[in-house]
Amino acid sequence: MRYSKFFIPTLKESPADAEVVSHQLMVRAGMIRKLAAGIYSILPLGLRVLKKIEQIIREEMDRIGGQETFLPSIQPAELWRESGRWGFYGKELLRIRDRHNREFCYGPTHEEVITDIVRKEVKSYRQLPLILYQIQTKFRDEVRPRFGIMRGREFTMKDAYSFHADEQSTQDTYRDMMTAYSNVFKRCGLDFRSVEADSGTIGGSFSHEFVVLADSGEDAVGFCESCGYAANLEKTETRAAEAVTDAEAPEALREVETPGQKTVEEVAEFLKVSPGRIVKTVIFETEAELVAALVRGDREVNPVKLKNLIGCQTLVAAAPKVIETHTRVPCGFVGPVGLNLKVYADREIPLMRNCVTGANKKDTHHMGVQPDRDITLERVGDLRLAQEGDPCPKCADGAIKIKRGIEVGHIFILGDKYSVALKAHFLDPQGKERPMQMGCYGIGVGRTAAAAIEQNHDGKGIIWPRAIAPFQVIVIPVNFAVDAIRCAAESLYQALCEQDIDTLLDDRPDRAGVKFKDADLIGIPLQIIIGGKNLEQGKVEIKIRKTNEAHLYDLPGVLEKIPGLLNAT
Ligand code: ATP
Ligand code: MG
Repeated sequence: MRYSKFFIPTLKESPADAEVVSHQLMVRAGMIRKLAAGIYSILPLGLRVLKKIEQIIREEMDRIGGQETFLPSIQPAELWRESGRWGFYGKELLRIRDRHNREFCYGPTHEEVITDIVRKEVKSYRQLPLILYQIQTKFRDEVRPRFGIMRGREFTMKDAYSFHADEQSTQDTYRDMMTAYSNVFKRCGLDFRSVEADSGTIGGSFSHEFVVLADSGEDAVGFCESCGYAANLEKTETRAAEAVTDAEAPEALREVETPGQKTVEEVAEFLKVSPGRIVKTVIFETEAELVAALVRGDREVNPVKLKNLIGCQTLVAAAPKVIETHTRVPCGFVGPVGLNLKVYADREIPLMRNCVTGANKKDTHHMGVQPDRDITLERVGDLRLAQEGDPCPKCADGAIKIKRGIEVGHIFILGDKYSVALKAHFLDPQGKERPMQMGCYGIGVGRTAAAAIEQNHDGKGIIWPRAIAPFQVIVIPVNFAVDAIRCAAESLYQALCEQDIDTLLDDRPDRAGVKFKDADLIGIPLQIIIGGKNLEQGKVEIKIRKTNEAHLYDLPGVLEKIPGLLNAT
């Protein structure tokens, strides 16, 4: 490809709305342009990267028996009503009407569509298992689209679905997917972890996320370096606390005045107690009612664990207004003693002695609270967010570390949720009709590219891992107007093309400085720089983008050096 003919609108400045480096660099490198919030055009350089990632995914899906399909992006409401998700899926579902006033949605995911195909065509256990996938556009009307194509509203996803006659087969495919996903992200050159994830109300116990470690990531991962345990922070278990043997003598329950002291820190300071002695009461709203969650004052509630403990469909933090209307207590003074809500407590709470809680009265707290004596608990469980340094829940002497990351892939076992709702049945060897078992497996293509940049960049620009680089080599003649330089560049370019090495020839009439800047910005692994003086001595310079190392090579025979140098990038 010739740079002069290739559309790469690079920019010196980052757009004002680009908070993370991958977004900044994708725009500056002329890979993407924004059309509307969360909706991006992918320009030629960007598309080359996405196609590379897609191809890697395709090869790994095909290797485990996946078959590619191309599915409609517009889906009829009836199908979503059948699965029960038309009502359940919130505002992320973009609902539209056609000229006949029939309802449709723009597909955020394709369980309904794929299950509809399979229920009509697959009748016997002999046709199972079946793995179908697509690499296509999805639309989710995200509340906060941001970070460019990392969290867009319209984005490209590889989405695979598998159908099985029994659980064993589902698990076999799940395991194959684990391997395929690891291969994909390894081949993309990423530093990633596969972590246990919450499967919420959909799946059984099986769900893993593939997370690329990066400080800018929206997710957090808890892991133990001793035993290898790793989970999304919202899923990271905590070790059950042990009862203290020399427990304090229980004091009597009493009210104390705490004018204006609302937060744990304020109350602890005011009453001269440690935050660990305070029971923190946090109010949430489910689809059915308000509930209270209790954790120690120096802990945070993990809403995902709470949702699972309650077994509700939705859970959000209750707004202060709602809390005050419902409990008639000003926020900051709500407490679990005599509270007219169901109370869910972390496992540490019943072990606590002589605690401090809100007294359900303005400017007042309780002291001398004995949770086992004074609080009626609906249920007790692991409700707190794991913290750095917590003892590992899985091994004897490990400790939990927390790192941020970007979820690039997610695999689930779905069980029979969709096959029951949509009646995707088959006949087993005994001739008995049964619902199929299913799994689903997604990878964000654009998000993977963005994650690669988060992990591979420097002050000058992107440093593409070789396997997903838009080009392998860029030939930079420092002055294209000089005959000798131009000829050398052209013939080297031809030779590289003949060897099927993706090469960009910077044939622009621009100054060398401009070309070097752009080459560093767009991040092609190898730069071959052809300059006058070196050329007179029969030499060219080759710079490895990643290390910035540059060496001179004899022009004759330089071609043979390229594959080896590329392998080193
Ligand atoms: P998230 O938790 O980040 O919102 P999700 O759990 O809703 O994602 P899945 O439905 O599991 O995502 O989708 C599979 C993959 O699609 C994700 O692992 C991610 O790589 C990608 N993906 C999901 N939402 C977006 C988005 N808004 N923009 C870009 N990629 C996305
Ligand atoms: Mg997810």
